[in-house]
Amino acid sequence: MDLDLDMILFGETSLRQALYVAAAVVGALLALRIVKRLFFKKKPVLAHTVYFVCENCDWEGHVSKFGTRCPKCNHPISRVATH
Ligand SMILES: [Zn+2]
Repeated sequence: MDLDLDMILFGETSLRQALYVAAAVVGALLALRIVKRLFFKKKPVLAHTVYFVCENCDWEGHVSKFGTRCPKCNHPISRVATH
């Protein structure tokens, strides 16, 4: 099947114009992904952290799944509260 880029798809829109629009949409989505990646780069990866409340100093927040001590008072983590 031969593809004629100047073929009219609908109204006054040719296949060529439709492809340009599609390319622009894909480009915009890619740009958005890159911007998102840059923007959220410094956020901690919550998938590898657990919510923790220190029973010694009441510090609360996300700590590494593999962390064993409170980041504030260095109290050993004995329980992990998951929210
Ligand atoms: Zn603590």
